[in-house]
Amino acid sequence: MSIPSQPQPLSIPPRLLLGPGPSNANPRILAAMSLPAIGHLDPFYLQMMDEIQTLLRYVWQTENELTISISGTGSAGMEASLANVVEPGDVVLIGVMGYFGNRLVDMATRYGADVRKINKPWGENFSLAELKEALETHKPAILALVNAETSTGVRQPLEGVGELCREHNCLLLVDAVTSLGGVPFYADQWGVDLAYSCSQKGLGCPPGLSPFTMSDRAWEKLQKRTTPVSNWYLDMNLLNQYWGEPRKYHHTAPCNMNYGLREALSLIVEEGIENSWQRHQQNAELLWEGLEKIGLVCHVEKQFRLPTLTTVRIPEGVNGKAVSSYLLQEYNIEIGGGLGELAGKVWRIGLMGYNSRPENVLLLLEALRKVL
Ligand code: PLP
Repeated sequence: MSIPSQPQPLSIPPRLLLGPGPSNANPRILAAMSLPAIGHLDPFYLQMMDEIQTLLRYVWQTENELTISISGTGSAGMEASLANVVEPGDVVLIGVMGYFGNRLVDMATRYGADVRKINKPWGENFSLAELKEALETHKPAILALVNAETSTGVRQPLEGVGELCREHNCLLLVDAVTSLGGVPFYADQWGVDLAYSCSQKGLGCPPGLSPFTMSDRAWEKLQKRTTPVSNWYLDMNLLNQYWGEPRKYHHTAPCNMNYGLREALSLIVEEGIENSWQRHQQNAELLWEGLEKIGLVCHVEKQFRLPTLTTVRIPEGVNGKAVSSYLLQEYNIEIGGGLGELAGKVWRIGLMGYNSRPENVLLLLEALRKVL
């Protein structure tokens, strides 16, 4: 085999990531991640894990004991949530209003669930009355909803859903990948039983971890299983023995990722979670006003727009892909294209974590004005 030529030292173009994620990380996070690795059973590391759990409970707004960061991206959190509570034959009702609802359907099917779908056009969400009716019809063991549908930019309100689920003796499972840190989320107040997110969006870390939380009700369902969790890596019975007592080795923790997450969470405590939500909202509103001024139309009704991710309709006659390529080449700005049903119809603009700042909004608006 021939020897490859010596690669140049790695250098990354200075991109401003204003797409659906990842977002740029605060330099403090990157600095924390460059610290030396440490043993995953080192007393210092175990103490840091406790700290991460406390900080995560704050951003999730929960008292759930089982609140951890899963090694893996947001999809690992999705997988963990389903794998632990779905037993073959369980009815799982999934609200599909975009691409990631369909991913939940795919995964739940693989875990043997009797999947029932309710659908909404891409750009809308479910009302409480619609969810109530579906719970009455399907009598599921689990209701799964996407709180922030990244493919459409729609926020699914969760107020009152947890109570409905309790009345119908079912668990509430929520995808908060594009909401945690950037959009108000009250796990306990809303009666959320399982929720997962990612490190690379509202928390502003690089990708690689999935914050996860599980209520006592979900834990009970896990304990009553008659079949083992069919995913070893994500089995909470095992992971709980590493994150809690007896601190038993499970897998080699990606310690540098967790240093970064700890720094990101510490930055949120410094700012205050409510202030972080408010900052995301204010910068999104600045973007929406600016887009309107240059004649662009947001795909989602204002009330249900996500502050973290805005879908903008590509005007008639404009080549959306050419515009985003131009922004990348000429301005080093990344924005996203449409996914699934919205492919070729919208751009997706993310203002997440460290990137949710007025100067980024103004820079993007200026670049768009020049390109269009
Ligand atoms: N769910 C939603 C709503 C997402 O936006 C994403 C990714 O963007 C995922 C799940 C999957 O997360 P990841 O790509 O980090 O695995």
